[in-house]
Amino acid sequence: MTEEITLAPQAPAASARVGHGDMFTGHMTSSVWSPQDGWRPSELLPLAPIPTHPGTLGMHYAQVVFEGMKAFRQPDGAIAVFRPWENAHRFQRSARRLAMPELPARMFVEAIDQLVAADGHELPAGDDELSLYIRPVMYGSEPNLMLRPSHEYRFLVLAFVAGGFFGDQPGALSVWVSRDHSRAMPGGTGDVKCAANYGPSFVAQQQAAAAGCQQVLWLDSGQRRWVEEMGGMNVFLVRGRGPEAELVTPELTGTLLPGVTRDSLLALGARMGFRVRQERVPIDALLADCASGAITEMFACGTAAVVAPIGRLRDADRQWTIGDGGPGPVTLALRERLVDVQHGRAADPDGWLRPV
Ligand code: PMP
Repeated sequence: MTEEITLAPQAPAASARVGHGDMFTGHMTSSVWSPQDGWRPSELLPLAPIPTHPGTLGMHYAQVVFEGMKAFRQPDGAIAVFRPWENAHRFQRSARRLAMPELPARMFVEAIDQLVAADGHELPAGDDELSLYIRPVMYGSEPNLMLRPSHEYRFLVLAFVAGGFFGDQPGALSVWVSRDHSRAMPGGTGDVKCAANYGPSFVAQQQAAAAGCQQVLWLDSGQRRWVEEMGGMNVFLVRGRGPEAELVTPELTGTLLPGVTRDSLLALGARMGFRVRQERVPIDALLADCASGAITEMFACGTAAVVAPIGRLRDADRQWTIGDGGPGPVTLALRERLVDVQHGRAADPDGWLRPV
């Protein structure tokens, strides 16, 4: 006899319902800088709109820098932030490039501690895909429209609960090779994290989406010959297979962002026994090597994207499949190792985790 059992539809994991950037937590920290007082101590405040003078300098002239990092639930239930000192130092470099006052690295890290201590409970336990994304931002806050650096600044830290960056499409990415737009130029701001690097990239992102791609691969702005990075993540390729596999990422030429995830994967990859290289990657050779199978895998990496396999590259005329178009074994092994370190399940010999 068969028994009829009606199963309630299984609820999707929480992470499948959580996007990226809208589930803000309840608080923010705020601090202001003036030439007389320097940086005042960070205050913890309820997250709320900030009245803004319409002539706020940073809003008109893009004197805005920001950061992004994540905090993860640990096996003992505590929360730890991943490599916040790296972000603190990158934030200082970004500020210097935009003629803004540097924030002491300790103040940056302690503001994050303050926010995570207050709002960490909003990060649900038991779902590896969820994390607390932390967004520090600093902008010229003086009401003045003279074309010069602001005389006042505000530093805020916000957080949101983040699921997967690519939502419910966790398969391999399709990536659009942008041949007619540029993200950065020599002597520009490509190697720092300022707001002005992002708005101008959205039109290429729209072009990518229209071609069925989720991300843009940027080339250098001069010869359009060298692979640089993606819209909000760095890129790696894998040559060869198995223990002979070699991990390659474009070297830091001054026009791409030195990602903390990139740096972490170079270290973890070497520790896992792969040969790792930073070198200039010509786009023509990359595409030929994808076609011949010499390049077996490619992936994007960043705080938001973690490690995201790339299955396909395309431009206006052609498309190239990488490997069999699905996530490759080296990509998956690196991803697992990184996620294990972040979640406190693998050794952390360099002290990358900062428990709060
Ligand atoms: N490149 C760009 C342009 C980015 O915005 C990001 C995200 N910060 C990255 C690379 C990856 O950097 P990270 O690993 O530090 O998040």
